[in-house]
Amino acid sequence: MQRFFVPPSAIIGQQVHFLPEQARQMSRVLRLRPGAEVWALDGSGQEWRVRLQGVTDGAAWGDVLEQRRVEAEPQRVHLTLYLGLTQREKFEWMLQKCTEAGAAAFVPVFCARSLVQQVSEVEAKRERWQRILREAAEQSGRGCVPVLQPAQRLTAALPQCLARHALTLLAWEDEHEQGLGAVLRAQAERQPWPLQLAIWVGPEGGFAADEVQLARQAGVMPISLGRRILRMETAALAVTLLALHYLEDGAA
Ligand code: SAH
Repeated sequence: MQRFFVPPSAIIGQQVHFLPEQARQMSRVLRLRPGAEVWALDGSGQEWRVRLQGVTDGAAWGDVLEQRRVEAEPQRVHLTLYLGLTQREKFEWMLQKCTEAGAAAFVPVFCARSLVQQVSEVEAKRERWQRILREAAEQSGRGCVPVLQPAQRLTAALPQCLARHALTLLAWEDEHEQGLGAVLRAQAERQPWPLQLAIWVGPEGGFAADEVQLARQAGVMPISLGRRILRMETAALAVTLLALHYLEDGAA
């Protein structure tokens, strides 16, 4: 069944009013008619099963049949990904796939070797990226749309990240001692749930040596994802799936 995120104000009592663009999609693309059922979500972790009463190109509304908690939303870990900025397609792929995998927030980071260095270039994409996150969250059955934080320089993002997260890891291909699984198992047990976890993934060229040193000195723990060098988008997806698996789905 199709899922749609709506603002909380769109759910009034037993009625849900969808956004005009959602109405258009329901009517033109999905060809839904009155009587069809969809899920409405307000980002709070609850979802409402709705029977459509009206569907036109400009408006869609319906009645609530059922309300329930979204089971797919991670409960034990809140994962923020700090991703080195890179070419647009690659960055968008990471936003989409890591949302499917369960990331809760994204911070685009200007690293020394980032292919993109202009704030204006990133801010121009903001709306588009937010739509990608919402659609990926709808498609994958998430209960919340991940948060897209403003892009930051690595030096500015580091102290903020450490202040906000109980555990901050940095995926580094030159780390040969500490693997992700061992670190998570050892550290996560000592932290209260939900674990506020941050993981950094570098751009194609990798983190510069002085960036890794800076992060290390600040208290970030470098981790290995294995002996092979992964492309950054592979590393971002792998680290998200593995972290969620170790801490959440595989932990039961
Ligand atoms: N240019 C570098 C590789 C960068 S890979 C080189 O050729 O040596 C891009 C990013 O993916 C890295 O910054 C790191 O965050 C992550 N990454 C790739 N392979 C990894 C591995 N085996 N372990 C941990 N992180 C890895």
